[in-house]
Amino acid sequence: MIQPMLNHIQTNASLLTRSLSAVWHPCSQMKHYESFPLVPIARGAGVWLYDCDGKRYLDAVSSWWVSLFGHCNPRINAALRDQLEALEHVMLAGFTHEPVVQLSERLRDLAPVGLGHCFYGSDGASAVEIALKMSAHYWRNTGKPGKTQFISLENSYHGETLGALSVTDVALFRDAYGALIRQQSIVPNPDWRKAAAGENAENYALRCAIALEQHLQQHRAQLAAFIVEPLVQGAAGMAMYHPVYLQRVRQLCDEYGVHLIADEIAVGMGRTGTMFACEQASPLSLTLSLKGRGDKNSGTLPSRVYVRGAGEEGITPDFLLLSKGITGGYLPLSVVMTCDEIYQAFYADETAHGFLHSHSYTGNPLACRAALATLDIFARDNVLAANRDKAAYLNGIALPLRDHRAVRNWRNTGMIWAFEVDSTHRDFAQRCFALALQNELLLRPIGNTIYFMPPYIIGEEEMDLLVKRTLQVVEQLT
Ligand SMILES: *Cc1c(COP(=O)(O)O)cnc(C)c1O
Repeated sequence: MIQPMLNHIQTNASLLTRSLSAVWHPCSQMKHYESFPLVPIARGAGVWLYDCDGKRYLDAVSSWWVSLFGHCNPRINAALRDQLEALEHVMLAGFTHEPVVQLSERLRDLAPVGLGHCFYGSDGASAVEIALKMSAHYWRNTGKPGKTQFISLENSYHGETLGALSVTDVALFRDAYGALIRQQSIVPNPDWRKAAAGENAENYALRCAIALEQHLQQHRAQLAAFIVEPLVQGAAGMAMYHPVYLQRVRQLCDEYGVHLIADEIAVGMGRTGTMFACEQASPLSLTLSLKGRGDKNSGTLPSRVYVRGAGEEGITPDFLLLSKGITGGYLPLSVVMTCDEIYQAFYADETAHGFLHSHSYTGNPLACRAALATLDIFARDNVLAANRDKAAYLNGIALPLRDHRAVRNWRNTGMIWAFEVDSTHRDFAQRCFALALQNELLLRPIGNTIYFMPPYIIGEEEMDLLVKRTLQVVEQLT
C-alpha cells in the first residue's frame, strides 16, 4: 500500500481545506462542514475505508449502495487493468466492442425473461430519463401520442435530473425546483409501516393496488408508464413492502395499457436476495419463509429470506433499470433493459422513428468490463446463496439491537436492514453519522432511519462489530 508521504495530520488538514475551497460536495449544505468535517479517505480495502490518519471505517452503506464486493476488490482491479491495456473507450454509435456485447448477453440471460435489449446510460438518473423518454416515444410511434404522463409512488426516489425529479417524491430534493418540473401523479405507496392497526403487509399492499387501479381507470388515455422501486424504496428510508403489490401492478399495467418501469438501480444486483427484486413478485411469493407474523401490531416486518421455487418466474417489467452496484461500485454505468415489442416499435427506415438518445460515455468499455467482473464474482462465489447465510447470521446477532427500547420497525429484505430510532435530537442523522464515525462505522441515516446495506463480502466478525457498535451509537443517542 502506498502510504501518504507527508505528515499525516498536515495532509489531512490541508486536504479538507482544499476540498472545501474547490469542491462543491453533493447532497450537502456546505456550511454544515464547519461543524461536521469532511472525512478525507486515503484508501479502501474490503469493507474498510481508511482516512489520511489511518483510522478505519466499516462501510456499512456500501458508499451510497454501490460497492457490492468491497473496496479495491482484487478481481475487479485485475479485470480493469487488463481492459486498460486493450481499449479504454470508443463511441458506441457506429461502433461496438466485446465488453458491451458480452455484458448485454449476460444481463439478458440473467434478467426476467423477455428483456433482450440493453440501452446504456452513464448513471441512475440517466437510465430513468431514458426509460421515460422511450416509453412515451413508444406510444407516439404506435399511434398514441397522447400517452405522455407518468405515475410514481409516494416517497419514491428516481434521481435528481429534471425528468427523474418529476417522478421523485422527496420534498427536500424537489421543492426548490418545482417550477422547472412537469408535475406527474403520485399514488399511495405500500410501505408496510403505514398499514392500519391489525392489517398485515400483504393486505395493505393490495389496498394500495386498488388506489392505483382507480388512477389507471381515470387516466389511462394519458398515461405512458408507472415507475416503481421494487420491494424497497431506498431513499424513502428503506420502506419495504409485500411482493404481492408488484404482482398486482403487473396485472393492472397490462390491463390498462401502461408500461411498467422497474427501477432496480438500488435493489438490483442481488440486494434484495434475488438477482433482481422483480423475481420475487410471483404467485408463489407466499412460500417465502416468514419469521414472525409481519403484521403492524407485532412491531416488526418479518425478515424475508427468499428461496426460489421451481418454475417460478416473478414478473417481467417493460423496462428494467440497473446502475449503482452494476460495476461493483467502480465506474458509473447504467442500463435500461427492454423487450422486443418496444424495440420493434422504433425499428424503421426513418431516423426520427428511432430512439435518438445518447451520452458521450454510453457503453464505456472499462465500465462494462467492471460489470462483467462483478457478474463473474456472483457466479463463481455463489453469492446469492452465501448472502442468505450472512443475512441469517446478522439477523441472529441483531436481537439486542432489534429489541432496544428506542428501536422501532426493525425490517430486513435480503442484504438491506433498517429501523427507526426514537430520539428527540435535532439533526439526528448528522449526529448519528458523526458518532458512528467515532465508532469506526460509516452509517448515513435517512432522517431517524438507520440502515445497513453492507458490501456482500462482509464477514462474521465485521457483522459482529457492525451490530455491537451500532447498538453503542443508538445508546448514546437515546
Ligand atoms: C440512486 C438511485 C437513482 C439515481 O441514480 P444516480 O446514479 O444517483 O443518478 C435512481 N433510482 C433509484 C431507486 C436510486 O436508488
